[in-house]
Amino acid sequence: MSERAAPFYCPYCGDEDLRPSEEGHGAWECGACSRAFQLKFLGLLARGLRHADSGGDQT
Ligand SMILES: [Zn+2]
Repeated sequence: MSERAAPFYCPYCGDEDLRPSEEGHGAWECGACSRAFQLKFLGLLARGLRHADSGGDQT
């Protein structure tokens, strides 16, 4: 499974002109609004979602 999460749209202007940034892992640059941002995986939700009570208990 890849650790890389590629955004499809810029979270700021919604444009699709995204390119990987040289700033580091998970960093992207938007060619439309010239913003640079970084995606970071924070972890799994401890409380899970409502339909998760069917037994996916992970610590
Ligand atoms: Zn943008």
